Amino acid sequence: MKFASILRDNSTSVGIVNSATGRIRPLAGVTDMVDLIARYADIEPSLASNTQEIALADIKLAAPIVMPRRNIFCVGKNYREHAREFSNSGFEAGAKKGAEIDEYPAIFSKGPNTVIGPDAPVQLHSTVTSSVDYEAELAVIIGKPGRNISQKDAYNHIFGYTIVNDVTARDRQKNHKQWFMGKTLDTFCPMGPWITTSDELDPENLDVKCWVNGELRQNANTRDLIFGIPSLIATISAGLTLVPGDIIATGTPAGVGIGFTPPKFLKSGDVVAIEISGIGRLENRFVA
Ligand code: MG
Repeated sequence: MKFASILRDNSTSVGIVNSATGRIRPLAGVTDMVDLIARYADIEPSLASNTQEIALADIKLAAPIVMPRRNIFCVGKNYREHAREFSNSGFEAGAKKGAEIDEYPAIFSKGPNTVIGPDAPVQLHSTVTSSVDYEAELAVIIGKPGRNISQKDAYNHIFGYTIVNDVTARDRQKNHKQWFMGKTLDTFCPMGPWITTSDELDPENLDVKCWVNGELRQNANTRDLIFGIPSLIATISAGLTLVPGDIIATGTPAGVGIGFTPPKFLKSGDVVAIEISGIGRLENRFVA
């Protein structure tokens, strides 16, 4: 199933998307995605109730998780070609030539303030950065809580998957020698268009594509992740309890703006579109 958050006036509700027909069925009494995820076993039997379907074209979607309860976990340098382009770009603080593949995954976070939905504008923050870049990523949504989760058990803790754009201010990422400052500006985490539940796709074989103004920049498959999803969940949950609604962005493939010489940073009016097979398409315009 595909669950989306619907934005109407100043409130949100949750609906089930039929992407084949382009319609959505709002769920009576479910206003919050994290609540749906946390109580899914109780709510699931009532999902078949016959509330009216409406056209997706007639509504606005919010980010599937409108306001995460805490920071989004993110993974850096998790595709080989991207690790190489990042090391070679000059924007990785302390990077050593030939040491671009790490023994342990690089984990950082973005604040809940970064999250915006499909079609919402991303701010370029031109007073604090001049090097805004895109990163197309598959994101995991945690369903079942757990600590010290084994790799073998990891998939049992996943509710579903969505798309995020891990927007990054490269100058700040480099200058502060720690990634948080470059990653956590307001609007820097477009998310959506919805959550596809884990029973509907094979997360180890998904095409990830990203276009800037219609030009294909990133084109990869999740089978090429260096640290796979079970490994990431085992690593992050070691001594840390994951809870329903937690989000893990799994890393971006090669083809980001700093992979080009000279770098291709985003400017006002640019549109970044990301597609992941089995999920959908997330599109956002960057504005000054
Ligand atoms: Mg990233």
